[in-house]
Amino acid sequence: MTETIDIVLTGPLPNKTADGLDNAFTVYRPFTGAEQKTKLEKVAAKVRGVAAGESHERLNDEFFARYPNLQIVASCGVGYDHIDAHAAAKRGIVVTNTPDVLTDEVADTAMGLLLATVRQLPQADAYLRAGHWLKEPFPFTDTLRGKMMGIVGLGRIGKAIAKRAEAFGLGLAYHSRSQKAGAPYPYYSSLVDMARMVDILMVITPGGAATKHLINAAVLEALGPKGVLINIARGSVVDEKALIEALRTGKIGTAGLDVFEHEPKVPKELIDMPHVVLLPHVGSASVHTRNAMGNLVVDNLKQWFAGKGPITPVAETPWPKPAKG
Ligand code: NAP
Repeated sequence: MTETIDIVLTGPLPNKTADGLDNAFTVYRPFTGAEQKTKLEKVAAKVRGVAAGESHERLNDEFFARYPNLQIVASCGVGYDHIDAHAAAKRGIVVTNTPDVLTDEVADTAMGLLLATVRQLPQADAYLRAGHWLKEPFPFTDTLRGKMMGIVGLGRIGKAIAKRAEAFGLGLAYHSRSQKAGAPYPYYSSLVDMARMVDILMVITPGGAATKHLINAAVLEALGPKGVLINIARGSVVDEKALIEALRTGKIGTAGLDVFEHEPKVPKELIDMPHVVLLPHVGSASVHTRNAMGNLVVDNLKQWFAGKGPITPVAETPWPKPAKG
């Protein structure tokens, strides 16, 4: 009899991906109800892998402690701020994410959100449906013509956004902790200085403690009364209270947001603002891209349990393990 490998799936995955998991492993799905939870508690010591689905449940040291023989956490998404990867590393657990396969999708969404926000496209659609066009044309909007965009986080997705923005005719600059070799855009080590220089701030850094409230009241003030903030990174990167205040008092012009501090809850103040554009965290959420991400989750697990190491380990749990000393 071949040995079965027990894994926990912490949240839903696309159907095709879930089929791949079920074909290769014995899968427990505690998020589906009490029966699965009870079953899982009984086999906790047998669990060797976790597939972190789209629920983004916090996976911390307390979670890892439940499964003494856990070897790998394969997460669906490039951002893994919901996983304590340092705690995993201490326990010798490998964490994987899904970089690259979602880069173009998120960059497309970022540009769509920017255009929708500046040209007020959702508002124009609502205007037509409400019958207002029969009475008078939709008011003229702001434009992308002649505008300068500052990218906060020129990583894989930041670069893909920059490529698209060049085709749109936007001027570009960027801020990150380090200057990127070969990047043809001006680098600003100071985020406030860059915000002062640009018309649009495009935020695409990781979430987590290191970037919490990177976009604060001072940055928004520097962006100025006509400034546009686009956040496609993580809600935690923007101080949401400061943003609401800046929008309410006209310290910045408008914002397009795909992510929020307490998802899926979105502050009523933002919902009541007619000039902002709000999306329910759909950056990578096409069928094509979510399948590609899910397949990479399954492939990481399969390759690991075939003894070939992970495909896409995160920086905190490098593979092969660096030599000691
Ligand atoms: P990446 O290649 O690792 O790029 C991240 C960039 O952020 C790097 O250029 C990094 O440069 C910069 N950065 C990191 N910490 C920073 C800090 N404290 N201050 C300023 N810049 C900082 O990652 P990616 O693949 O482009 O993905 C980026 C993020 O996008 C993910 O982590 C995730 O949070 C978000 N995302 C959102 C969606 C969505 O649906 N909305 C989908 C996918 C990804 P330095 O190290 O030099 O600072």
